[in-house]
Amino acid sequence: SRTANPTRDALQTVIASLEGAANAYSFASGLAAEDALLRAVLRPGDRVILGNDAYGGTFRLLDKIYVQWGIDLVPVDLSDPEALRTAVAERAPRLIWVETPTNPLLTVVDIAAVAQAGHAAGAVVVVDNTFATPYLQRPLDWGADAVVHSTTKYFGGHSDVVGGAVAVNDPELAQQVAFQQNAAGAISSPFDAWLTLRGVKTLAVRVERPSENAQRIAERLHDHPRVRRVYYPGLPDHPGHDLAQRQMRRFGGMVSVGVQGGPTAARRFAEGTHIFTLAESLGGVESLIEYPWAMTHASVQGSSLEVPDDLVRLSVGIENADDLISDLLTALDRL
Ligand SMILES: *Cc1c(COP(=O)(O)O)cnc(C)c1O
Repeated sequence: SRTANPTRDALQTVIASLEGAANAYSFASGLAAEDALLRAVLRPGDRVILGNDAYGGTFRLLDKIYVQWGIDLVPVDLSDPEALRTAVAERAPRLIWVETPTNPLLTVVDIAAVAQAGHAAGAVVVVDNTFATPYLQRPLDWGADAVVHSTTKYFGGHSDVVGGAVAVNDPELAQQVAFQQNAAGAISSPFDAWLTLRGVKTLAVRVERPSENAQRIAERLHDHPRVRRVYYPGLPDHPGHDLAQRQMRRFGGMVSVGVQGGPTAARRFAEGTHIFTLAESLGGVESLIEYPWAMTHASVQGSSLEVPDDLVRLSVGIENADDLISDLLTALDRL
């Protein structure tokens, strides 16, 4: 079953088909999938450009493990075309790692632009599509070489399974990832693959409803006196709104909120809701709230990826939107 397993094969076929990929490979976690892809592509001396707002664990994997093995890591604001052009021209990356929308600031990155710039320099362009899911966005269609997922999130969808996946088109890259899967062995177990397959059956409705709820929440909190800023690409004043409209079907279920009153107020807000559960992770049917600075993004403290300390991140679930909004407003009123 490390080499091949029928349940894992079924999951891999489904993920490849959703992403429009020739092949997909599933792993024991999102980070295991990332690790397999990085090992497949990188050699000592290579350079990686990473978006300067990214999942903390991805930064930790590169910064604390790969750098030790001779990889050079360069964080760049990939939503800035000039910064992208300069970095690619001057830094000769072997791999460019994109998140869009980013975690936790919901910045939107132009996948086609990064793919074009990266390919001109001979780089492999990877998109972590965990936040959007292939229901909202298909990076390979925009020219990316590989898609990675934490299937722990929207694919599984019920906060009861950990997993990851890599989807690719290029047969050579596929073979290298398949080799890593078998040789290093960080496979998804048959039971985890089965749970994930169950989750995927409802992926579309589990992304639609949170997208609807998140849009309403973002609009309601936008002018709230206790809110410094709402980060949500569905808001017309979001800098990536037009790009997101082209690149995505809808804007997704993730919303971040900068809270007036700084870190103390932000922590109290995150601890003050009842329907939103205070927890890491995301993409499940139930709404979650968290404080990235000390939770999901604690590993980027002190780096150029450090997140604002007044930020609260919401993973909006499928509950009734009015209930969710009143839960948030009550918690904000108590600050
Ligand atoms: C959670 C997450 C990961 C890591 O996935 P695990 O399944 O927890 O290992 C990677 N990227 C993003 C965007 C994530 O949210």
